[in-house]
Amino acid sequence: MSDRPVILVTNDDGVLAAGVRALRNALLPLGHVVVVAPAREQSASSHPITIDRPLRHIEHEKDVHSIDGTPADCIYLALFEKRFLPRRPDIVLSGINHGSNLGTAVFYSGTVAGAREAAIRGIPAMAFSAPVGVDFGEVAAHSARMAARFLKVERPEGQALLLNVNFPKQKALGVKVTRTGTQIYEEQVMPRHDPAGREYFWIGGRAVEYGQTEGTDTQAVAEGYAAITPIELTATRFSHMASAAFVAEAEWTQEVAS
Ligand code: MN
Repeated sequence: MSDRPVILVTNDDGVLAAGVRALRNALLPLGHVVVVAPAREQSASSHPITIDRPLRHIEHEKDVHSIDGTPADCIYLALFEKRFLPRRPDIVLSGINHGSNLGTAVFYSGTVAGAREAAIRGIPAMAFSAPVGVDFGEVAAHSARMAARFLKVERPEGQALLLNVNFPKQKALGVKVTRTGTQIYEEQVMPRHDPAGREYFWIGGRAVEYGQTEGTDTQAVAEGYAAITPIELTATRFSHMASAAFVAEAEWTQEVAS
């Protein structure tokens, strides 16, 4: 049996997206690459798994699969249904996303969620994102070089590594190790009417500003660098334990006064 690395790839833009195709092609020399990606776009889908309907599977070609679910569904299925992988993967890569996942976007991102689902299962994972309009060939080549090093990186005890990589729009000046910054969006709500005259809302706006703090992913990308940020999986905020304790002192037994 081959001892080549097994690399599982997903994304949130769908199996046909140019970003995941470019990533797969660039990774092929590194090992046995298997793509299990959503059938349709799941951008900003965050981290749901689908437990209330069936999940359909299509094998598009050898080692390229789509699932009509979310990025987390794809990783879950790839890891726990035998047919997809020859063995447990060495690393999981998600992307290359069509669009940045900087700052608080990591909470909304399906791309990061795909990688996070693997990290939760103890498999080192990376997410790759680039602004719309980049040369995916070049970004994929960079990503593959990082993936080659990721296969060799020392594995810390306990929590699996989760790295979030963002590329700038132009050719990167270099790579900076960063922390998650703040991205400010237009925060638009557009009330409109459908052809039947019923009102609906369209939400979401462009990223217009970022917190200009040295050392953040937003700042690094704005300066023309790629940013690589290690992401925390532990959800506890230890500095807020006292606030939690204050709230915990609420009366157990009596009804809240109305
Ligand atoms: Mn996307």
